[in-house]
Amino acid sequence: MNNDILNTTILTVEDDIQIRNFIKFVLESNDYNIVTAGSYHEAIEQYLANHIDMILLDLGLPDVDGFELIRKVREFSNIPIIVVSARDQDKEKVKALDNGADDYLIKPFSAAELLARMRLAFRHCKVKEINEKYKVKDLEIDLTKHLVYLNDKELHVTPMEYRLLAVFFKNVGKVLTTSYIIKEIYGANYGSDTQALRTLIASLRRKIEENPVKPKYILTEVGVGYRLMDE
Ligand code: CA
Repeated sequence: MNNDILNTTILTVEDDIQIRNFIKFVLESNDYNIVTAGSYHEAIEQYLANHIDMILLDLGLPDVDGFELIRKVREFSNIPIIVVSARDQDKEKVKALDNGADDYLIKPFSAAELLARMRLAFRHCKVKEINEKYKVKDLEIDLTKHLVYLNDKELHVTPMEYRLLAVFFKNVGKVLTTSYIIKEIYGANYGSDTQALRTLIASLRRKIEENPVKPKYILTEVGVGYRLMDE
């Protein structure tokens, strides 16, 4: 039994009883504590009554839209929120991520996929607490010395590539929208020059990826943005 999981409570917000029961079954079989809610208002009640470590959130709720719950929770908490939705349009994903969700799972999904995304979101959360040095597979960044290492050898990167990598490392496993990355590395007034970002990603991939066409570090999330993978 995994001790990390033993005292972990997941709030599942979902009005479809079949999906809710499926998630409940999967999580309970994997030793998570689970609390459920079928509406926005029930979710707020459950959130306030329990110590919640993560939220799995359906966007289409009967009373208030799920986006509102993300905004509400983000006013006072950084716990991982994974949106679980049948809405697969890119603009819905971008909106959820820009509002503070950590990841996005499209229905239907498998138990294995759900559990993998949850582990990733928890790891992302832990990484945020540590600082200075981060490592993902064979790639390492030292934020104090401003150095990047690949296979334990120092890797030469430009200042912009370094800033881009730092943003990814601080958000390991999380899908970052293109507009978020641009704002982080170029500043808020830069607008949305996605071409500049694509060029920068391409040059970084040539340095860190064995095969830039099939990247294993920086993955493209089509229509949404990018994600630094660590598994
Ligand atoms: Ca629904």
